[in-house]
Amino acid sequence: MLSIVATPIGNLGDITLRAIETLKACDAVVCEDTRVTGNLLKQLDIPKKELISLHGYSHPQVVHRLLARLADGEHLALVSDAGTPGISDPGYVLVAKAAEAELRIESVPGPSAVIAAASISGLPIHHFLYLGFLPLKKGRKTLINSFIQEERTILFYESVHRIERTLLELAAALASQPERQVVIARELTKMHEEVIRTTVAQLPVIAKSITRKGEFVVIVGALG
Ligand code: SAM
Repeated sequence: MLSIVATPIGNLGDITLRAIETLKACDAVVCEDTRVTGNLLKQLDIPKKELISLHGYSHPQVVHRLLARLADGEHLALVSDAGTPGISDPGYVLVAKAAEAELRIESVPGPSAVIAAASISGLPIHHFLYLGFLPLKKGRKTLINSFIQEERTILFYESVHRIERTLLELAAALASQPERQVVIARELTKMHEEVIRTTVAQLPVIAKSITRKGEFVVIVGALG
């Protein structure tokens, strides 16, 4: 069996009981960074176990070997550095191939920054558009410009290196909708958690003053 196990996005207390049980019981943990996951297991007092690294650059052989182990009846747990595997994180290929091979896949759900941000945004989220990370070059401008007619609330991840640039680009693309709401969620579940509730008109000021530290989710409100 392959268990897809969500882990905390900042606050260790958000680990679920099932995640702990699964990480204890499995034969090996497939993870992005063995040091990050090794630390997590240590903090959870889980005895040392085999950690197998799987990331975007892994050789296809790694997935083949994992599939063979699953087919042999082993129990593997897939985690990412933080949050839910596969959500803007590695894991998709392994899950897709395991599904194709009709291997059993179990969900051990838990934290994900996109869901945490959506739920505290106060913006309409009965349906929403999640974009992961915006493209850096090709298609970026077209995508941001398309927000002007997007009727759903839009969520995307942003890194500290690009938050200022992205907020300025959003302000320019949505200049004709100055009242449109924007929420910026920073460091969710961590000590310096911050939620900025603002509008497009205010974005140039926010872009200059925002704390350039930590992790961000940007939420653009549905068209009023
Ligand atoms: N799979 C993860 C999940 O389910 O949330 C997301 C992994 S993605 C590589 C990492 C990005 O998620 C960060 O750059 C940031 O945009 C967002 N993120 C992760 N943790 C966060 C947090 N505590 N607060 C705000 N954003 C966060």
